[in-house]
Amino acid sequence: MCPYGRAAEYPGGMRSEAIAYPTLRIRPIPLLHSPTAMHTPTTQSSADLIIIIGAGAAGLMTAIQAARTTGRRITVLDGAARIGAKIIVSGGGRCNVTCDPDTAGTEQPHTYNGSSPAAIRKVIRRFDARQTVDYFQSIGVELTREDSGKMFPVTNRASTVLDALIHAAEKSGVQIEYPRRVQTVTRTDDGQFTCHTDDGRKYCAARLVLATGGKSLPKTGSDGHGYELARSLGHSLTPRLFPALVPLNVSTDCFVRTVPGIATPAAVSVRSSTGAKIIEFTGSLLCTHFGLSGPVILDVSRHYLDARAGDPGTQLLINWLPGETFDTFEETLLDRRIARLTPLQLLTQRDLPRNLARAITAQVPNLGRSAPLSSMTRTGRRAFIRATVEQAIPVTGDRGFTHAEVTAGGVPLSEVQLKTMESRICPGLYLVGEICDVDGRIGGYNFQWAWSSGFVAGTALATES
Ligand SMILES: Cc1cc2nc3c(=O)[nH]c(=O)nc-3n(C[C@H](O)[C@H](O)[C@H](O)COP(=O)(O)OP(=O)(O)OC[C@H]3O[C@@H](n4cnc5c(N)ncnc54)[C@H](O)[C@@H]3O)c2cc1C
Repeated sequence: MCPYGRAAEYPGGMRSEAIAYPTLRIRPIPLLHSPTAMHTPTTQSSADLIIIIGAGAAGLMTAIQAARTTGRRITVLDGAARIGAKIIVSGGGRCNVTCDPDTAGTEQPHTYNGSSPAAIRKVIRRFDARQTVDYFQSIGVELTREDSGKMFPVTNRASTVLDALIHAAEKSGVQIEYPRRVQTVTRTDDGQFTCHTDDGRKYCAARLVLATGGKSLPKTGSDGHGYELARSLGHSLTPRLFPALVPLNVSTDCFVRTVPGIATPAAVSVRSSTGAKIIEFTGSLLCTHFGLSGPVILDVSRHYLDARAGDPGTQLLINWLPGETFDTFEETLLDRRIARLTPLQLLTQRDLPRNLARAITAQVPNLGRSAPLSSMTRTGRRAFIRATVEQAIPVTGDRGFTHAEVTAGGVPLSEVQLKTMESRICPGLYLVGEICDVDGRIGGYNFQWAWSSGFVAGTALATES
């Protein structure tokens, strides 16, 4: 099931943004190294070995970068039967590799959440969107910018990105072994790490990288076990790990459920129980059979869920006419030139899809559908304004990690040296990608974090003595 709702229901046209999500059908990638051929003994031990747990975006970038300039042997272990699953399903199967290099929004507030913006920025600046575009070009992936600023491979296929990363890793001599799920990791007093896999193998290494992702879309292999591995090595986790970029459920009687498939621009805000505005995003919203989805909802979701955890009275408000406020819309309604229009006519004139406009007006008690605006009472007018530009939505929860794109929370960046991504708690351990307490907005920011943190760790591993 598509995490955004029913992708097939997206109508075409200007007010819809196609964000289809393919079924998780991943083309088998040949095993680079047959497990039986490689590991007759059950223990691989070497002081010059670097083990990377996780062959996702961050793990592959770390491996390639570390292997380019180091003589060390690098082995990547991944528990999934197919590696790179998240790259394959990302961006509706097209992989939104990064954000617009010209406007790379790291300076805008709320592009990234979690650990301090300054810390996140420090890592991103070491390998930013521009360098990412150049880097992918260097491994044979041409990226193109869409009007939204998102960067996709010109082939429009996520497999182009994954194939190029695997090829670059292979060319650099990186060994990728899967399925090899790491159950436990221990560290001896002399600083050696031992990874125990679920098939009884042991891997010893002087350097260990945790690139195990978060908890989102667990069937891809990122099921949160990496957090336990980090904890077992002395790290803490943020008090909460919760879904981010996740669709929201609404109560069964909420009208948005009656118009599934309708997508429209909207401004969505989070308000505290006292009515204070916490945050607002504007973008495409999708009504679904369970509630709300679409880019603007995904962006706002982590802020809503975070606020509600501390304040159960937190509200989600939708403005179906972004740009209008209560006051400006009231002025419009009092304008004599449109006095003959009905509320429904007015909303459809403002480009709201007819069924949605009908559903919105049906929320307002005693609003005569065929009565003109001029006949509205003050109370009726104010109720209509609230339903249109300040509609409180009865959110009952979120769609969970199985439908979330990323995880909010993780290992705090305060426990990591930002110049190297090496742990401050456990020397020789590196943490990259989604396992860290960093989550970004829709638009390529999450992969950018994976590339940047992987690049920083890989460079450090390659250059250390
Ligand atoms: C549907 C969907 C669409 C998305 N689209 C985009 C997009 O277009 N643009 C964007 O920027 N972001 C997107 N994201 C987010 C992006 O995919 C993640 O931020 C990114 O993949 C994180 O990379 P990572 O390498 O840290 O973790 P992951 O990609 O999750 O990789 C972690 C790897 O570690 C392995 N692993 C975990 N535990 C173990 C263990 N114990 N032993 C061995 N291996 C283990 C897993 O099998 C997995 O392969 C999307 C996410 C989803 C779910």
